[in-house]
Amino acid sequence: MRKRSIFITTTIIFLLLILFPTMISANEKTYDVGTTNLLIRSGPSIESEVLGKLNPGDQVKVFDESNGWYQTYYNGKEAWVASQFLFQGKQKSVTSPSSESVSISATGVRIRSGPGTSYSIIGFTTLGETFSVLDKNNDWIKVSLPNGNIGWIASWLTNQQASEAIPKARSNKSIQEPSKSISGNASLSGYNIILDPGHGGNDSGAIGVGNVYEKDMVMEVVDDITNRLKQEGATVLLTRSNDTRIELPKRVAISHAYQTHAFISLHFNASPIISANGISTHYYSNQNLAYQVQNAIAQHLNLSDRGIRQDSFYVLRNNQNPAILIEMGFITNPSDLLKIQSKDYQSSIAEAITQGLISYFKN
Ligand SMILES: [Zn+2]
Repeated sequence: MRKRSIFITTTIIFLLLILFPTMISANEKTYDVGTTNLLIRSGPSIESEVLGKLNPGDQVKVFDESNGWYQTYYNGKEAWVASQFLFQGKQKSVTSPSSESVSISATGVRIRSGPGTSYSIIGFTTLGETFSVLDKNNDWIKVSLPNGNIGWIASWLTNQQASEAIPKARSNKSIQEPSKSISGNASLSGYNIILDPGHGGNDSGAIGVGNVYEKDMVMEVVDDITNRLKQEGATVLLTRSNDTRIELPKRVAISHAYQTHAFISLHFNASPIISANGISTHYYSNQNLAYQVQNAIAQHLNLSDRGIRQDSFYVLRNNQNPAILIEMGFITNPSDLLKIQSKDYQSSIAEAITQGLISYFKN
């Protein structure tokens, strides 16, 4: 009887010794930070107080999870960080050396259910995360996810894209917040957006490869942009909806006739140098609006990112409302034009402008 109780006690102590460290490590996981200026907050919400910032190289011990936020401790206080910008470093070595892998080269990259931006978003991944490649379809890579599911990632946001084509805007310092799901939200409710398709009528704008007219190309994309913005609850007005010439002062007058929260002039670029390509956003006084939109463009489109520029265009300089002009690619560049004419481009530019505006109004 006595021997038996000693045996039981010894067994319990032994079990505690081997189990206790295991229990600790099962409850807290260490994550690496995959973005710059990742905010640490007092609660699991973007409304919560900011306690500090994290950067790549920092590590976070995670104790709990709530709606896409990870709980940690910061200066002895409970703190929360958006989970999609954290990754577990050991994932980098999970893939076997024989299988092809792909590494994410941007922050907050969407994982989709199929190979295109029209497919639903099923998750997010971030800078430095690595996945096994299962298949490829044009610019999209099919990957296996840590939870065993499969998803698709745009190749231009990974190391499979040549480095010079990786969007520049992603390396700019920006404050990253959890992205909202695109369905069922009305993030632009209450905002008046004016879309200004450039040129029209006897002003054809630039003439591109195969004699395409800039004035027609902008009308090709304006519908998708309008619909996507309306989906988010925005009120959208157009300075022209058919092939008529509208003088520049009238375009500005339309902007001033409303309480316009953003005026977006839509153009395509042209150059005698055939190789000139890519998308740029121009501003006169509102740099942040240009920055947010161009940043979203760099994330969503596989045309090269020419960045933002201050320019004295009439519709920007004379506009009292926040205004930008987007040169949405070069119609004189055969490769840009091919992309511009695809259905995927039209939904992507619509998504990018919408997400850029959402970020702009949030900041
Ligand atoms: Zn133009």
